[in-house]
Amino acid sequence: MVLKMNVAALMLVTTMACSQSTNTKKQIDNPKMDNTKQQQDILADPELKKKLTPEQYNVCVGKGTERAFTGKYWNHKGHGVYACAVCGEKLFGSDTKYDSGSGWPSFYQSLDKSKVKEVEDTAYGMRRIEVVCKKCGSHLGHLFPDGPQPTGMRYCINSASLDFVEDKK
Ligand code: FE
Repeated sequence: MVLKMNVAALMLVTTMACSQSTNTKKQIDNPKMDNTKQQQDILADPELKKKLTPEQYNVCVGKGTERAFTGKYWNHKGHGVYACAVCGEKLFGSDTKYDSGSGWPSFYQSLDKSKVKEVEDTAYGMRRIEVVCKKCGSHLGHLFPDGPQPTGMRYCINSASLDFVEDKK
């Protein structure tokens, strides 16, 4: 009987130890925490300044905005995908690009909702939704509720934040 209880107690301790170690692992592996740290590392990497043009760096890292009608993609009509200029993640497809008349590349939806992050932006006394690359945190542009159907949304994106990858099929 005593032995049985000891075995039971030992099993209980083992189980608790296991669950504790699982919890610790969960915290370490928390994708949100890791992602933020990774993003800070990517955007703070001095090599990034060499990889991007000064304008791209100002937009992607400094959250700047290129002047309307000056970017390389506002009037671009190629068939393919627009990837993040910093990390290469594919963010927007040419099939959802449309001419908004704004002078910036405009899309009515992203390639995959999980690839872009929407953040409230109250800079310059305005309340806007900032759009950033979910993978690296690079600034992309802003989201406005005045786009065409089927979404009614307009992703107003800086050309400087994008790299076009032509679909050669
Ligand atoms: Fe990115």
